[in-house]
Amino acid sequence: MEAGSLLVTKALDGNRYALARLISLVEDNGTDARSALATLYPHTGQAHIVGVTGAPGTGKSTLVNEIAKALRAQDTRVGIVAVDPSSPFTGGAMLGDRVRMRDLASDPDVFIRSMATRGSLGGLARATSDVVKVLDAVGFAFILVETVGAGQSEVSIARTAHTTVVVEAPGMGDEVQALKAGLMEIADILVVNKADRPGAARTAQALELVINQNAARQQAGENGWQPPILQTIALNGTGVPEVLAATAAHREHLYASGLWASRERTRVEMELFNVLQEELLDRVLTQIGEEQTQAWVARIAAREVDVYTAVRAIIGE
Ligand code: GDP
Repeated sequence: MEAGSLLVTKALDGNRYALARLISLVEDNGTDARSALATLYPHTGQAHIVGVTGAPGTGKSTLVNEIAKALRAQDTRVGIVAVDPSSPFTGGAMLGDRVRMRDLASDPDVFIRSMATRGSLGGLARATSDVVKVLDAVGFAFILVETVGAGQSEVSIARTAHTTVVVEAPGMGDEVQALKAGLMEIADILVVNKADRPGAARTAQALELVINQNAARQQAGENGWQPPILQTIALNGTGVPEVLAATAAHREHLYASGLWASRERTRVEMELFNVLQEELLDRVLTQIGEEQTQAWVARIAAREVDVYTAVRAIIGE
């Protein structure tokens, strides 16, 4: 039996060491990883995938930690995938991990993984979605995907979740951060964390205004879901049960409205395009080779040929 499928068997059996190895294998995206994912795929589709995103320092890691603890109190198995596209190291994520280590890391029903840049955003999105698949397949029923909401890249990763929680905090600047990052459109649940700080109510009001405007624009929420705005103090767990209740309510809504299925389709479509793009690019670049690639780059830079003509020539049209 090849290494990958042995790991799959053991991981499905609940072997934690095999699971960790399998996840590393999947992150590295080799041939073994692909056959492992193929075996695992029929086991996926059970987990509720919840994205948690927001500006750095809003308290995402602390909140995710508290949500995980609350889930454990309900005996739910929890996976946490912390993604930091901006960091070539897992610097920020590791800081969060240290916080988590104390409370969660010794719990066999919690699995935490930090992911850093994989060379390209597409690579990171793929690796994240594959790691989530592995956790889903081995029975983690609730998977938290934490991303730093600093730009389009996080938005695209957050979109792969069933439910997206956008975290905001008072005193992070005059304007609501989520607005700048364009996160409001993807928010299913809004959390104003650090409610112990002055200005939390005002931040919540600002968010409400935007939500109401959005709802009016979309004819009272086309999909029938009005994102709730919740206040939390992640430091001591205040408001966390309400966040959990909101995620459960959102999941029910997704099921009842048929949105669950359509979000799954959107997710699969994005993934298909993402993988196709990577594979085709890879294939073409391998075919023409590094030297010829650089020759094309030089010709385009020298204005001898434009990029569209070059691409047509390369792919043989
Ligand atoms: P992240 O960068 O969004 O993941 O934020 P962290 O979870 O690392 O938290 C950033 C800082 O805010 C840390 O020093 C936390 O202890 C602190 N923090 C988190 N939640 C709260 C809260 O509810 N109230 C207060 N006052 N501080 C908090």
